[in-house]
Amino acid sequence: MTTEVLTANQLKKEAPVFGQLSFNDHEQIVFCQDKDTGLKAIIGVHNTVLGPALGGTRMYDYQTEWDALNDVLRLSRGMTYKSAITGLNLGGGKAVIIGDPKLIKTPELMRRFGKFVDTLGGKYYTAEDIGMETSDMDTVREVTPYVTGISESKGGAGNPSPVTAYGVYMGMKAATKYAYGNDALSGKRILVQGIGHVGEELVRLAKEEGANVIITDINEERLQEVSKKYGADIYRGSDLYAETADIYAPCALGATINDDTINKLNVKVIAGAANNQLAVEGVHGALLQEKGIVYAPDFLINAGGIINVYAEIEGYGRDQIMAKTENIYNTTLEILSKAQEANITTNAAAMRIAEERIENRKKENLR
Ligand code: NAD
Repeated sequence: MTTEVLTANQLKKEAPVFGQLSFNDHEQIVFCQDKDTGLKAIIGVHNTVLGPALGGTRMYDYQTEWDALNDVLRLSRGMTYKSAITGLNLGGGKAVIIGDPKLIKTPELMRRFGKFVDTLGGKYYTAEDIGMETSDMDTVREVTPYVTGISESKGGAGNPSPVTAYGVYMGMKAATKYAYGNDALSGKRILVQGIGHVGEELVRLAKEEGANVIITDINEERLQEVSKKYGADIYRGSDLYAETADIYAPCALGATINDDTINKLNVKVIAGAANNQLAVEGVHGALLQEKGIVYAPDFLINAGGIINVYAEIEGYGRDQIMAKTENIYNTTLEILSKAQEANITTNAAAMRIAEERIENRKKENLR
């Protein structure tokens, strides 16, 4: 597997489909359309060596269909690495539905989407991502068993976001230990960008430990609410990326570590929930390393959610979910040390271990 993934505007639109740069040996891409409900979706199955591909469905009003394709390619690949590094017997997959959920999401559209998932016969399991609620997964469950993240009342493991936040918190503490010599967040100035399902819980955990938490979001109402609830300060400056702090926690959208932001960053640690934080992994990961910023790989520390939904397939309970999620602390420390020993980026170190696990399983399967 190669390690380079480019952004949507770097896709070569004149190249044949398999030549698109975000393709990374993906096994299968399924384009789904239903005129009656307005459904336009793409399911990306990246790799199923370790098990069925599992990854959430993102519903988003993409500017172009190319952006949606690029997103599903990047996200599904990320899931392969996330499950592999977390030690789960799952492959990587993801789905995107094109459109504004507030405008076009209906139960009929979700059921039609579920039927497309069902046609894959268990090669791909879906779950929630941005633009999706647990109730949407319950609707999908009406037409296919290949869905996780359903309500507890319907036999699911419930909302994965608090578990994701706990894993990010563990990864953040490990990275802090690595950078500062101890893992205490108390007194640390932490910038949390995006205080949605995961960000809010992360704010709660960090505040509970006595951190100085600064929050930012495009939703002013949420800012007021979360600030009041936990006593976090609202960021009112003009450029978050230039802010001096101990820790930057990206918990909104991906690719915020990019050509425009990288030289401004004035933090010691980056640890957050957003997927694909590095716009170009090789380039921006290496620049962070040069700047001496400890980067906790996103796909490693935001795995709490997938640990939670995997429990629905494997049938394990809350204690095991939390224990596996807590172990993100140890894995993060191990990866940070390995990166230093091998003089490679932390992202590359995590990917190397994930790839080794996949390659070993491939060999076992051939025996
Ligand atoms: P969410 O939609 O609940 O929250 C995202 C928040 O970010 C919202 O409050 C939104 O207003 C805000 N936001 C959007 N654009 C912004 C911007 N430019 N600047 C500041 N804030 C902005 O999503 P979530 O479930 O909390 O997930 C957050 C991130 O973590 C996403 O990237 C998601 O893919 C990733 N993630 C989530 C989970 C999970 O279990 N929910 C698991 C793994 C990864």
